[in-house]
Amino acid sequence: MNTTIEMMPSYVQEKWWVPEGSGGTEALDASTGEVLGRVSTEGLDLSAAVHYGRTTGQAELGKLTLHQRALKLRELATYLNGRREELYEISARTGATRGDSMVDIDGGIGVLFTYSSKGRRELPNSNVIVDGPLEVLSKDGSFAGEHIYTRIPGVAVQINAFNFPVWGMLEKFAPAFIAGVPTVVKPATPSMELAVAGVRMMVESGILPPGSLQLLSGPARSILDALDYRDMVSFTGSASTANLLRAHPNVAAGGVRFNAETDSLNAAILGPDAVPGTPEFDAFIRSVVTEMTVKAGQKCTAVRRAIVPEQLKPAVIEAIGARLAGRVVVGDPRTEGVTMGALASLDQLSSVRAAVDTMLHSGGTLAWGTLDAPDVGSAGGGAFMSPVLLDWADPDSPAVHTLEAFGPVCGVLGFSMHDGGASEAVRLAALGAGSLVATVCTNDPDFARSVVTGIAGHHGRVLMLNREDARSSTGHGSPVPHLVHGGPGRAGGGEELGGIRSVMHHMQRTAIQGSPNMLTAVTGVWHAGADRVVAGDPEYGGMEGAVHPFRKSLAELRIGDAFASGLRQVTLADITAFAQSTGDTFYAHTDPVAAQKNPFFPGIVAHGYLLVSWAAGLFVEPAPGPVLANYGLENLRFLTPVAPGDSIRVTLTAKQISPRVTDDYGEVCWDTVLHNQNGDIVASYDVLTLVEKENTLYP
Ligand code: NDP
Repeated sequence: MNTTIEMMPSYVQEKWWVPEGSGGTEALDASTGEVLGRVSTEGLDLSAAVHYGRTTGQAELGKLTLHQRALKLRELATYLNGRREELYEISARTGATRGDSMVDIDGGIGVLFTYSSKGRRELPNSNVIVDGPLEVLSKDGSFAGEHIYTRIPGVAVQINAFNFPVWGMLEKFAPAFIAGVPTVVKPATPSMELAVAGVRMMVESGILPPGSLQLLSGPARSILDALDYRDMVSFTGSASTANLLRAHPNVAAGGVRFNAETDSLNAAILGPDAVPGTPEFDAFIRSVVTEMTVKAGQKCTAVRRAIVPEQLKPAVIEAIGARLAGRVVVGDPRTEGVTMGALASLDQLSSVRAAVDTMLHSGGTLAWGTLDAPDVGSAGGGAFMSPVLLDWADPDSPAVHTLEAFGPVCGVLGFSMHDGGASEAVRLAALGAGSLVATVCTNDPDFARSVVTGIAGHHGRVLMLNREDARSSTGHGSPVPHLVHGGPGRAGGGEELGGIRSVMHHMQRTAIQGSPNMLTAVTGVWHAGADRVVAGDPEYGGMEGAVHPFRKSLAELRIGDAFASGLRQVTLADITAFAQSTGDTFYAHTDPVAAQKNPFFPGIVAHGYLLVSWAAGLFVEPAPGPVLANYGLENLRFLTPVAPGDSIRVTLTAKQISPRVTDDYGEVCWDTVLHNQNGDIVASYDVLTLVEKENTLYP
């Protein structure tokens, strides 16, 4: 027993806070029942914590850009990585095996790493994200509109479930932090000790700006009273609590954003082709047993319904039973040889037992396991339970589709092969009324297509499992932070916060309208029609003495710095030579008779790539300087053909400048437009370059 913790502390306004007195709820070791400490927020000023987040937290986070905050997440992940052992030790007291703890702790740290790199790769190094293309709204181009994302001005309150105290906290904290929104986290009581330890480490790291993270180590039941339209709540837990919170006046009428992930009757569907002896059958059995036993089945994504062809049901039940019998040793996770730990609390144990009991009275029969307390040797008093596999003779029994036993419990349902089976499998899966995830295990592409398109509208994520990905798959139960992982219907109607979209959940979309100069000022992205400083040919706007933008380091370069070239004429000889040297002898460049018939061309035309290559020759500033590399083109469009005798010129404008937070250089995106001698646009694209922050290599 950890005797040093009496009352678990909250962390608010940069201070650890402990309530006076000895009230509160006890948090127990899940295996031994020993008291680890008590939780209470009695006397804690929740409004003050929210106010501190909205003021100090917002101000401090706002001093950093999206990239700078993303980089801090990597530093934090590295720091926590070094202290994992301390967390594992505490995690064991929640009933978690070493493997379970790794899912929670390493998984959570992995989420920080993933968000850090995705944030820096996929978002701009600023605090304004442009959403979608510009719409020009006036004939002369002086009025236009576009959309931006900026962070919400309040706090992100995260109310978490007991099952993943570290991962559950970090998967919500990471996107809020990148967005620049302060977190107020309220973990669940049974695993509070681990959540407190995680927050303590994050604070001790010294990496986080003041106000970016506060912790409420207790019920905090009135937290929603302190929130308004500026704030958001991300809830994970039971549907009943979610419904209660959703009905709070500040949510229902006050505009607090509310996202919930709740009870989920996830399905795994076996294809008729996946008979015993196939790799798919084996993968299915492995997956179901893993989902039943990891974290003792206390996973929001665990498989609750194995939906299999009627004729394969006996074989499936037998194989799941055999695998459970061969692999599962229930007990205190600190004991050698134990493979499945305790449920998180005795309350949780009785609620799972009660759910199974109801199922047994509603048509389910025990196919494997027992409701008797398992023999766990000397570890008495803990929340131990044997895995339970139920056989449902009637696959339409409502209980299996509505009741979530949040433990090592799964039911097997058979579907009839009417119409090939797919439509029946889809119908049964949909009776779960929307869930976080489903697996479809088959090597038959037609069955996979019918089932996946049939169930996708009911599920946030669908895993297709076959012999090709059975080993490489991250598995049914793992939401991956790379993907946005939704959960419709009963699972909360919201989304699990995955992928960069979850950063956007913490931001407001706003349409902005104005002149190109104003849009440029707000977004930090140069817009066509906005002011420029142009070097180069005076006939096309270049100024005497203006410096070519390729001579400027990031310290000197400003958006709107531009270069305008003179005209260069294209001859038939140039086109022929280009065709011969590249081997691109497409008829439009070499055969005047055939080219004449083409409705898009006036006859022989120059290769688009010739024009792009010439454009590089026209805009380049060849001497060694701060431009390090050209790493690509984007959005290339050829708009007007160029015939022999026509001329082209190019204008290059610094459109977006993104200094890298980890390097001595950054990206510059150049708006590039080719015109012909008549002023028609021949081609437009973005040139992407890497440019030094200071002129150091070739000063
Ligand atoms: P609860 O809904 O009771 O608790 C979840 C969280 O909400 C806890 O932090 C809890 O705090 C808090 N909470 C409860 N009531 C309020 C309230 N009135 N105001 C503010 N916060 C409140 O769920 P359980 O702990 O019972 O979790 C078990 C169930 O949650 C499972 O049976 C499962 O169905 C579901 N679940 C779903 C998951 C998903 O992602 N879909 C993941 C995990 C669980 P406190 O500890 O102080 O009570």
